[in-house]
Amino acid sequence: MDLRRLLGRGKGATARENERLLIVRVNEQEVASVRLEDIPCEITPRVQIDGSATIEFEDAAGIVHRHHAPDASGWLHLSVRVHSNLGCQADAVITAAPTHGAGSIIGDGEYGLRFQPFFLPSAPNAPALHGRGMFARGLHFSGLVTPANVLLSCECDHCARTFTVRSFHAGFSETSYFYSASGRYTLLVDATIKGAPAPLSEPNPQSLASLEARLPPSPDGTRFGYYNPFRCPHCSAPYVNFTAYPEQRAGEYYGLYFPDVPPIRLEKETGEIS
Ligand SMILES: [Zn+2]
Repeated sequence: MDLRRLLGRGKGATARENERLLIVRVNEQEVASVRLEDIPCEITPRVQIDGSATIEFEDAAGIVHRHHAPDASGWLHLSVRVHSNLGCQADAVITAAPTHGAGSIIGDGEYGLRFQPFFLPSAPNAPALHGRGMFARGLHFSGLVTPANVLLSCECDHCARTFTVRSFHAGFSETSYFYSASGRYTLLVDATIKGAPAPLSEPNPQSLASLEARLPPSPDGTRFGYYNPFRCPHCSAPYVNFTAYPEQRAGEYYGLYFPDVPPIRLEKETGEIS
């Protein structure tokens, strides 16, 4: 792909070619930038941190994707890939030691942070992802397991603020998950309980409705529902919107929860439900 043609810039547009298409900052300090001539590329700045780091990606139009890492002391190892289609993927590993090899296992006391991918302005085929699932957004990858110690930093389609979530593989744990109508809570239901849809399968509507009616309310009193959206904690807008896109529900086999609100587990043995 000819990026100069793509961006509508002729051979004489040297000044524009030197324009920085992406600037990366950590705690308001610039740590890297990308120009047109650099693409495709991977940049890997490393920054010492003490506390909750703010990581910003600013494009040439002035749009800032601002993420916040959880409180930690040590080193933030960033990897930012800018592809030929002007898509940007970034993640980070936070370690106590100053070194971390690319692709190395994330050890005890360390964690990864995967930022929601985004497209630079002028990207030719940026998909509409409003309300879409985690695979479509590039936060999980089909066929690749996301380790439990990788946090996902999501960007709300509505308010543009970011929030961090943890995820679990419902298939491995043989559970169904249900979000509360408030979007605050996640309920795990043992897949052997009658009416609980197995991961990757379409539910039986009657059995599901019967199960949902028997589920306890969430701690804030709202009901758990299989098609309830996962919501932005800042503005409550649907983020993974199963109400608008019920067809993506069965394939979203990673459930989500907020780090400060662990999932509630409902097991058959509890006697609360049968
Ligand atoms: Zn929001």
